[in-house]
Amino acid sequence: MDYESYFGDELQAVRDEGRYRIFAEIERKAGSFPHATRYVEDGTTEVTVWCSNDYLGMGQHPKVTQAMHDVIDQCGAGAGGTRNISGTNHHHVLLENELADLHGKEDALLFTSGYVSNWAALGTLAARIPGCVVLSDALNHASMIEGIRHSRAECMIWEHNSPEDLDRKLATLDPDRPKLVAFESVYSMDGDIAPISEILDVCEKHNAMSYIDEVHAVGLYGPRGGGVAEREGLMDRITVIEGTLGKAFGVMGGYIAASRNLCDYVRTFASGFIFTTALPPAIAAGACASIRHLKDSNAERERHQERVQKVRGALDRMGIPHLDNPSHIIPVMVGDAHKCKFISDWLMDNHGIYVQPINYPTVPRGTERLRITPSPVHSDGDIDRLLNALSDIWSRCELARRDVAA
Ligand SMILES: *Cc1c(COP(=O)(O)O)cnc(C)c1O
Repeated sequence: MDYESYFGDELQAVRDEGRYRIFAEIERKAGSFPHATRYVEDGTTEVTVWCSNDYLGMGQHPKVTQAMHDVIDQCGAGAGGTRNISGTNHHHVLLENELADLHGKEDALLFTSGYVSNWAALGTLAARIPGCVVLSDALNHASMIEGIRHSRAECMIWEHNSPEDLDRKLATLDPDRPKLVAFESVYSMDGDIAPISEILDVCEKHNAMSYIDEVHAVGLYGPRGGGVAEREGLMDRITVIEGTLGKAFGVMGGYIAASRNLCDYVRTFASGFIFTTALPPAIAAGACASIRHLKDSNAERERHQERVQKVRGALDRMGIPHLDNPSHIIPVMVGDAHKCKFISDWLMDNHGIYVQPINYPTVPRGTERLRITPSPVHSDGDIDRLLNALSDIWSRCELARRDVAA
């Protein structure tokens, strides 16, 4: 085989489909989020980032950056080992305690990312519990799917956000068989929210464990930022709550919160937990500071929701189609990979507005979109510039508009 030409041909096929991924090279500027410097061939330009998952701008919060500076000075750069072999730092333990408290669980377990936490926790539970069958929502994130696949456990896919279909599928199984129901609260690409209470009713009816990914909700919803399950008073009914420290908390890392025995079981058996260097202590300390701040402060969450409503309202007035959903994620639908990339490039080149195009396989073909994530640090001026630019390109490309309510 001619390996080089094989790789080249495969990449060309992706280019021809208009979904070849080009990463914007940016330098975020602490203190000036959402503004950043973009590196281009012949220098730099200034951009406003409209597609960050640092939803609340906690990545530049002085409490967070100060905690990280302090702990680098105190502990140095890296953890120095896996959790098992000299890498468990005091700051990891503090963070796990903070997370257990956030979710009202007995314990929590840290991983190097949210991806790894899903992969390792689901993979370990499903693989090791004898005869376990996994019931996975049809739109679950790649990290959950990979974990479930890796486990080689039997897996049934239930209709997205349908407790009725979940109930039907569970009813076909032997009542004595161990069952694990995996789903998300806020789905990252459509921004819709699961009917958690109804799903838990079904889980309880069939004695199934429940595993919820609250990655796009922790920090953002609930009186202390515990997620949608906290807001709805459901945390104690969920077996495993999984989250990230890399999105609303603005740092990095992933975790599960659950009973002491379940966390201990995953700690003991999960390869993706055991055989990898622990997060740097400064990362743990930054995440801990972020969680603590958001437990006490609602200001960021309130301003976040207000900014989201402002952008939605302006899109509606201009007739620019976006998925209506009850979350902070605003998918502006384009429905074509080439157009989506063209619009994204045009916004960047002409207006310094950075919205990454979202294409297959992240979303199904034909539903390509611009995923806009307003944050508390986007100003009225930032919003006006975004909306004027979008309206302009919508006219230039003769894209369909919605009827504008009078
Ligand atoms: C981003 C994401 C993850 C992975 O979290 P990271 O901390 O970024 O690795 C898991 N689940 C969902 C739904 C996500 O969108």
